[in-house]
Amino acid sequence: MTSNPYIIAVDGYSSCGKSTFARMIARELGFVYIDSGAMYRSVAQYALENGLIKGDSVDPALNRELDKISVQFVLNRDTGLQETLLNGRNIEKEIRGIEVSAIVSKISQVPEVRQKLVKLQREIGHGGNVVMDGRDIGSTVFPDATFKIFMTADPVVRAERRYKELVEKGTPVDLQKVIENIKMRDYEDENREVSPLRKAHDAVILDNSHMTIAQQMDWFREWWRRILENENGN
Ligand code: C5P
Repeated sequence: MTSNPYIIAVDGYSSCGKSTFARMIARELGFVYIDSGAMYRSVAQYALENGLIKGDSVDPALNRELDKISVQFVLNRDTGLQETLLNGRNIEKEIRGIEVSAIVSKISQVPEVRQKLVKLQREIGHGGNVVMDGRDIGSTVFPDATFKIFMTADPVVRAERRYKELVEKGTPVDLQKVIENIKMRDYEDENREVSPLRKAHDAVILDNSHMTIAQQMDWFREWWRRILENENGN
């Protein structure tokens, strides 16, 4: 079913290039891009800063703190990219590091965290003309999204891309650790009880292991053209 204003859901595995792709789609269509993973990463950052990670598990006391956590996005005018604020403080750099990546899938298993963030995602996306990327956008957050894309790619290809990205940002990291982190997050995202990573039944799979971003955009344009044609009854 299609709807106007439009919502495009881009879900899939970690480090598939979802955000680059979703951002490009948003730019092309003049839609707003929303990075739902940044919201989970922000709660993870809060938990780390406030001593709410014990070993590799989340202190249940986090649930009592959730009302104190506010996540917002601002546009960096120099880069044209969106950055994340945690309680008004820019934490864009911190949330992309390996420390947050190592615990974020534990945070995203907490039902109360998901409840809070899904509500926020629905509020932000409510007006439509939005591209939102994540794990459960098509399956849970916006089950009536206009177009649902489920992205996947070979785990080693994904790890190499993520490694390159971190090195370019000046974050020292070991490739083997990146591969392990990606496999661990895939496992935890697919196996958590609440809203696990699943392809929505009506999502279209995009395996971009051997595709350039230009090819992915061509793929998108072709699908989008058909969706709009269908909507107009042509
Ligand atoms: O997309 P990104 O890799 O930044 O997301 C970080 C983590 O946040 C994921 O590994 C997943 O555990 C969680 N997440 C989620 N649901 C979403 C978006 C992200 O559980 N919609």
